Amino acid sequence: MKSLRFISAEALVSNAQLARKSLSSVAHNLFPLLFKASYLLEQGEVIHDLVENWPLANFNIGKLLGTTVDYQEDISSRACCVCLESCLVGLRDYVLNCSSPYSKRLKVVDLTGIKDVEVQLCKCKKTLGRWARTELLSKLCFELLVEMQRLQFQPCIFDIAIDILIDLFVTERNYELVVQALLMRCHCPLKIRCVAFRADSLALRKLFYIIKLTDPSSLRKLEVVHNIRLEMEHLEVLFNNIHFPLLTSLTLPARAFSVQRFAAEDEPILMTIGEKMSQMTQLTELSLAFSTLTGKIRKLLSPLKTPLKLLDVSNCALNHADMAYLANSLHSNHLEVLDLSGHNVADLYPSTFFKLLSHCSHTLKILILEECNIQDIHVNMLILGLIPCRKLQEFKFLGNPLSSRALKCLFNVFSDLPKLNYIEFPVPRDCYPNNVTYPIDDADLSKFDHQKYESVSEELNNILLHANREDIKASTPLFGGYDAAIQETGNELGSYLLKSFKDTLENFNKALQEMN
Ligand SMILES: [Zn+2]
Repeated sequence: MKSLRFISAEALVSNAQLARKSLSSVAHNLFPLLFKASYLLEQGEVIHDLVENWPLANFNIGKLLGTTVDYQEDISSRACCVCLESCLVGLRDYVLNCSSPYSKRLKVVDLTGIKDVEVQLCKCKKTLGRWARTELLSKLCFELLVEMQRLQFQPCIFDIAIDILIDLFVTERNYELVVQALLMRCHCPLKIRCVAFRADSLALRKLFYIIKLTDPSSLRKLEVVHNIRLEMEHLEVLFNNIHFPLLTSLTLPARAFSVQRFAAEDEPILMTIGEKMSQMTQLTELSLAFSTLTGKIRKLLSPLKTPLKLLDVSNCALNHADMAYLANSLHSNHLEVLDLSGHNVADLYPSTFFKLLSHCSHTLKILILEECNIQDIHVNMLILGLIPCRKLQEFKFLGNPLSSRALKCLFNVFSDLPKLNYIEFPVPRDCYPNNVTYPIDDADLSKFDHQKYESVSEELNNILLHANREDIKASTPLFGGYDAAIQETGNELGSYLLKSFKDTLENFNKALQEMN
């Protein structure tokens, strides 16, 4: 519900001209209220002027848009293009505007609270995602320096130093711009402070260079993904040269580890990496999806001194020893998010898998078991494993060969899990033709009896409904869930893949010619 104050604020900012004229006589403590109201109504010009004249020491966008006394709704998931652009340009003009009636007290701007989600509820329906925010802020920092040069010496500008906390997302396409902005950070009044760093489609040389520029000593989250050919030996070089004392979360690209072509001399590399990770005493989240780690997970995880809360070892070809290590490790009692997709958990290592599940049952919030070959014969065992997971909020198990009947049994159990609110379940086995084999390849994935699926899906939802669990959302996103980062940079990702494919072909051709 909106308070009377909020409704009045909305009334004021809905007339942009009037609001902009009145700003100089508005009390300091009303700025946050007016900001949220303008953001809600997408009043870009007012937002710009509010930020340009921001009278307070802090500007934390997550807090400003989050639940407030005057309006409970959290609107921080609106990465609205109009609003965010106005905000960032307003920041640049905050520095340049020497005639603002307010004294310049702003010290910290925190932009990390914006959430990138699939559905945009704002009017313009256009988002300014993480990648675009990175680009725009870098561009504005650069423009600011050019403008300062033009204005010569203006003491009111040169005294300003504002830390801008932001989650950077860099690819080849915005690399140069971001590097420029980071290099000139000491001269620019707006100082980019990178809290989380994500890199994709970037050469290793550039990756290493830009990580150094981000000030790794204060970095909390590092994601190196998809089109970056970071392998174990590169990771060793990275960790030997750069320290990440505050890192809490690390994501490595597919094939960062491939122990199938492991030689004796690789063993020390793995140990060094484990040891370097153990020096990151705050590291609690580790994503190693699509690395091959058969028989080596202990080497990597046992040196860690802090228990992991998130572990993604999907498609890592873990063997029995790995699973036994995980089940008995210090991490097992602390895991909140566990992804074991791509492992035949119920057949290959039933006892160790269920031991692991039982050890983390008191902490587990998200469990992902996609394409794990879980069949009807395993359902009773799975139910026994799930019942103690009273904190479970999300369970995703797409791609498993389960019948409609088995799904119904599972849904009856789901309705008893008090915190559960999200399920991704597979298309039932009996909706596919008899000759389909699991894992089903992309081409055959949508070749099922859709009518039958709809009716089963309705029955499953009815089970939840009858148990008064309308709060649980159950769906079957055939090709995986939404990924804001992929959404934003998908085009570049595709062309980068094509280019590397072309390069490989050319090299191959050259090699052939040389042989001739
Ligand atoms: Zn919008």
